[in-house]
Amino acid sequence: MYRLFASAALVATASAVTTNFTSTVDPTKINIPNTPQTTSYDVSTECTYYAPPVPIVPTDWPSNWQVATSNGMNTSAEYTALYNSINWGSVPNIQPRTLGPDGSLVRTGYDTVNDPDCWWTATQCVTPKAAGVLKDISACPEPETWGLTYDDGPNCSHNAFYDFLQQQNLKASMFYIGSNVMNWPYGAQRGVKDGHHIAVHTWSHPMMTTLSNQAVLAELYYATKMIKYVTGVTPLYWRPPLGDVDDRVRWIASQLNLTAIIWNLDTDDWAAGTTVTVQQVQQNYQNFIQAGTNGTFASKGNIVLSHEINNMTMDFAVQNIPNIKKAYKNILDVATCMNITHPYVETSISFAAFSGGSSSNGSVSPGGNGSSSPNSAASGTQANAALAIAAAFAVVAFL
Ligand SMILES: [Zn+2]
Repeated sequence: MYRLFASAALVATASAVTTNFTSTVDPTKINIPNTPQTTSYDVSTECTYYAPPVPIVPTDWPSNWQVATSNGMNTSAEYTALYNSINWGSVPNIQPRTLGPDGSLVRTGYDTVNDPDCWWTATQCVTPKAAGVLKDISACPEPETWGLTYDDGPNCSHNAFYDFLQQQNLKASMFYIGSNVMNWPYGAQRGVKDGHHIAVHTWSHPMMTTLSNQAVLAELYYATKMIKYVTGVTPLYWRPPLGDVDDRVRWIASQLNLTAIIWNLDTDDWAAGTTVTVQQVQQNYQNFIQAGTNGTFASKGNIVLSHEINNMTMDFAVQNIPNIKKAYKNILDVATCMNITHPYVETSISFAAFSGGSSSNGSVSPGGNGSSSPNSAASGTQANAALAIAAAFAVVAFL
């Protein structure tokens, strides 16, 4: 009887919207072939096109790096069914925002005192005011815990970086862009195989609050669908590009059961060499590392925003992680630090419960596939990984 009730409740939640997420990939049995692209530390070799492990028919998807309503997706039967399965009468009445001539969000006229829309960009609000909206996660609750997160992957040149994380026995929350998963499917499969916590970072990385309801839904839907199609997991968490989220966007994400993960420390690594100096980013890292021992995080943890957007940002991580390990009790992906044992729809993958112990993360096991790794042939030493990233430093700029 209890089982009957339990499964009925599950169905009620899952059938709230009409989704078409399918995959032939078993996420507990991902097998990545050893190819130059999956093993090399040379950027141009890693980033050479390869045939995807699952057929990707371009007409089935939004155009790569275009807003996800492109390529006729907004009028497809699949998307129309999805859109019509949502009760839009309940969406918060918030108008899409606009971008100024410099490309930044126009905040003029917004009431930042009362913050009626819980607009993070304006106020860093993470507690929604609208009904029926999932609340953001913005910090790991455990003391002296560093929430390890990397945005904008999978980056085709991340082999050395992922090998480094593997050698350090570290798992991170990886926020993947749907268009990047489409381009570099083995890169995404590597993230799942290595036991990282995979989450959604939209299809084309727009400022989400500027989009129509239709486009917000498409950005989240097709990115989630692509991650599921390529890796076999359906994420339940997402991160808005540049943190740009309000209650309208949150409400739409909530229809897909997606909870936003924000951050409370920003390394600014992606901007190094442009709007901030490399030295400033390094100083940010040093400040955050010191905060691990000076009492700042004596009663709580953080979530740190960093990127796998290029070799420079990955190199910052490689250089600083040894000191982060010394300064913090735990370095954890966000699912683990929040004790979220099922961060995906698929229950075949469980993340071990975190008891707040003093040891660094090593407890996450994606469905028992941690034994033989085809990538082990590519694993150099930690120094080699750092060296390879440093050598590639000025070569690649993605975006
Ligand atoms: Zn991003």
